[in-house]
Amino acid sequence: MVTDNITAASAYVLPTDNSAMLELSSSSPATDIDPVDFIIIGAGSAGTVLANRLTEEANWTVLLLEAGGLDNNFTDIIGLSSAYTIFSEINWGYNSTAQSNACQGMENKQCAYARGKARGGSSTMDHGVYARGNPLDYDRWRDLGNPGWGWDDVFPYFLKSKNAVFEGQDTDFHGHVGYMQVDVTSQTPGVEEIISEAFAELGINRGDINGKNQSRLDRIQFTLNGNTRASTAHAFLDGFQDERTNLLLSLNSFVTRILIEKSTKTAYGVEFIRNGELYTVNATREVIVSGGAINTPQILMLSGVGPASHLSELGIDLVRDLPVGENMEDHIGYTGLYYRTDKTFWNITTEEMVRRWTENLRPLTAGLCSEMIAFTNVNNGSLGRPDTEIAMLNSVFPPAGLASAFQLNAKYAAAYDNTLHDWWFIHALQHPKSRGTVKLQSNDPKDFPLIDPNFLSDEEGYDLEISWGSILT
Ligand SMILES: Cc1cc2nc3c(=O)[nH]c(=O)nc-3n(C[C@H](O)[C@H](O)[C@H](O)COP(=O)(O)OP(=O)(O)OC[C@H]3O[C@@H](n4cnc5c(N)ncnc54)[C@H](O)[C@@H]3O)c2cc1C
Repeated sequence: MVTDNITAASAYVLPTDNSAMLELSSSSPATDIDPVDFIIIGAGSAGTVLANRLTEEANWTVLLLEAGGLDNNFTDIIGLSSAYTIFSEINWGYNSTAQSNACQGMENKQCAYARGKARGGSSTMDHGVYARGNPLDYDRWRDLGNPGWGWDDVFPYFLKSKNAVFEGQDTDFHGHVGYMQVDVTSQTPGVEEIISEAFAELGINRGDINGKNQSRLDRIQFTLNGNTRASTAHAFLDGFQDERTNLLLSLNSFVTRILIEKSTKTAYGVEFIRNGELYTVNATREVIVSGGAINTPQILMLSGVGPASHLSELGIDLVRDLPVGENMEDHIGYTGLYYRTDKTFWNITTEEMVRRWTENLRPLTAGLCSEMIAFTNVNNGSLGRPDTEIAMLNSVFPPAGLASAFQLNAKYAAAYDNTLHDWWFIHALQHPKSRGTVKLQSNDPKDFPLIDPNFLSDEEGYDLEISWGSILT
């Protein structure tokens, strides 16, 4: 199964639009389905949790619509799938637009923009790192005018969601009865001590990065259950799907439009395509859009909710003029830094890696096979919270695999000669000031949205010079 999936990934060609999911088998009018109380668009990280919590109320019916199909045994191996699932139907297949200040080593100066399309959404293909962020991040959201999103408001829900089972945790900061298991995984012998000493020299001490003080170095906490990816699908749907008759999950169901009553501006249903058939369904209570950071703005704009001028250019009837798709932020990471050592890491066959996995051992129990994580203030201590995340991994995959995952151009791929002797450090900017956009190419759901993260473009040069300057030099 593993080798079949790896082979299939190397031959897979990513789609350039959504047409394969939207082809209608006839021109028959839409079939109306019986109304439900709630329609949730997208069975990803958010949608699965919402479906679970709403169906606790036995009198409410919930229809969970997901464009992708089922997760599978391969996606359960977090160390493999996070590298190879990118080249499968589970990835929507997006790229950024060509960037002026970033992605310069990638084909056409476009960065790959992987997004999950399956039960569990991106949590079925992500690296599984459980890092909640800093309490001040949430307080900032609240202070920007979002009551209910401050740290004191959200923290009880983090506790409720998770079951942290690893040793050495700051116990008061973790939940222990929730559905989503969080664990650490085994280490590469001899490495943890060296890295810890090096970071201690820089004043970054060991400690739980989801504990009292985030500015620490630690083993990575993963959403992991034994050896299996604890996607939100596993955590919040498995075990409930059969017993809750009020929950209906419809896979391969691509929502093309939210139906909105124009005079009252009230959403009352959706239109979707499943296996070549067009359907409409109404919600008596709410339509919830949890299609992810890229597809949610796409669906809203296709439904007439977005910037008036942009929608008018594309011939979409305006329902409500709102800045949908603007103010996009993403935590760009620098992936080109690795340190050669005199040790050899993981010089073992895939078969041996899988055997170790069955015994809950690294490297494949860890997302992207990574190992340690640190949060720190590299340059901007005045923020009061870390400005940089550093994730550390050894090179398990062949350089060619990584080069294609990042869509490196030939010149950069040639320089990317990571070996089994290397430690790889990924630096991710925590509070970028650059702002991008998600826009539509046309009024047709077949067309991919235009994703312009506008990386490293802020006028004062904070993202590149102030925040990253010292690392990159
Ligand atoms: C490769 C990768 C690695 C990552 N690593 C990490 C990590 O280590 N740690 C971490 O915290 N985060 C990580 N993330 C980010 C994390 O996975 C996402 O932030 C999170 O899953 C987003 O949740 P969501 O519910 O907003 O969207 P998603 O989980 O993406 O769910 C959206 C769902 O909606 C569905 N959908 C979209 N449009 C439609 C439509 N029109 N009709 C029907 N269904 C639709 C999608 O198919 C998808 O299933 C990673 C992401 C990726 C892609």
